[in-house]
Amino acid sequence: MYPVDVGPQYEGERIRKGEFQVEFGGPSVSHKGELATVRGLDEVEHDKITVTGPDIKDLPEGYSGSFFIKLDVAGEALEKDMEAVLERRIHQYINYIEGVFHMAQRSDVWIRIHKNSFKNGLNSLEHVGRILIDLYTAELPVIEKMSLEFATDPARVQELLGGAMKVYKERDERMKGLREEDVEEFYGCVLCQSFAPTHVCVITPERVGLCGAVSWYDGRAATKVDPEGAQFAIPKGNLVDEEGIGYDNVNEVVAERTMGESTRFSLHSALSYPHTSCGCFEAIVFYIPEVDGFGIVSRDFVGSTVVGNPFSTLAGMASGGKQNEGYLGVGVQYLSSPKFLIGDGGYSRVAWMPSTLKELVQESVSEGLLDKIATEKDVQNVDELTEFMQNAGRL
Ligand code: SF4
Ligand code: ZN
Repeated sequence: MYPVDVGPQYEGERIRKGEFQVEFGGPSVSHKGELATVRGLDEVEHDKITVTGPDIKDLPEGYSGSFFIKLDVAGEALEKDMEAVLERRIHQYINYIEGVFHMAQRSDVWIRIHKNSFKNGLNSLEHVGRILIDLYTAELPVIEKMSLEFATDPARVQELLGGAMKVYKERDERMKGLREEDVEEFYGCVLCQSFAPTHVCVITPERVGLCGAVSWYDGRAATKVDPEGAQFAIPKGNLVDEEGIGYDNVNEVVAERTMGESTRFSLHSALSYPHTSCGCFEAIVFYIPEVDGFGIVSRDFVGSTVVGNPFSTLAGMASGGKQNEGYLGVGVQYLSSPKFLIGDGGYSRVAWMPSTLKELVQESVSEGLLDKIATEKDVQNVDELTEFMQNAGRL
């Protein structure tokens, strides 16, 4: 019924450069995104799939360009709270399609369509849309109506992205104020085990999932949308590690869900029993021994970090679902968490970050410290960073 096969066995497929027919979004494309919106039952025309701009078949082989997925759903039992969770399913379901790869989320999305799948007839985004609507409605009965728009036209992508950025921000704002101490339950997510089989995200009010797309509220909503799904409740239990912040019950769940690969998580330390990372983190915290401090780099930073490696190399070191001391994949929003790396000293241990990221987190860093954190504008390598730290009185 579809031009290519569909099923969970295709999750985890990689499509390399040279293998893709077309690529949408990704690091070399500036405008891309995806957004799910819950609307009224009379506002969604069920099964409607729109392609705004050139379709796969109209694009030259090897094309790379702007992209946006707009997903509208309606259903009696759907709540606004569930939008981010429904949006995250785009990642899961697109990866079910043979020869189609989806990575990251929100305004970072990256999709590739394999040449073989194109040759087998997957030549329109309408095929992708048909598969998505069938999967969503089959797996999530709360969805009664669903429509999709795929935009490849750059002006339309920009327009949709503008609106989506406001929504992403509103979602992040909601989390402010709620603390781990205020709740009895955290949430776990194992959606990324198809890529990193021993990875589990522990999501708390002060620790967003490392993809940035699943907050504590989203975890809670997800357990309602799909009780059998990849997100589940974790009654937190007792605080057994006051320094790195660890809970006995969380550790038990981690051991179970990682098949014994990890048995203890410090929720807020990159150095001792760090949380595992899959591959879709928005940013990486990395330890720099020479200054006994951390660098932080986000996915959008182009070029080499202060340690000489670009994001992609550091990503290789951080990812894979193992506990890698000194490397921690995080959601950008975690950088503004009151518990940000509290077990390691928080911002007092941060030595370097890109200037754009520094601007983003400035309200979370004490005033006197902000100027003492170097960026790519101040230093180019670890020697210069050491000197910078000495001059700042931090070494
Ligand atoms: Fe879930 Fe974590 Fe993967 Fe995000 S990164 S989808 S929270 S497992
Ligand atoms: Zn992941």
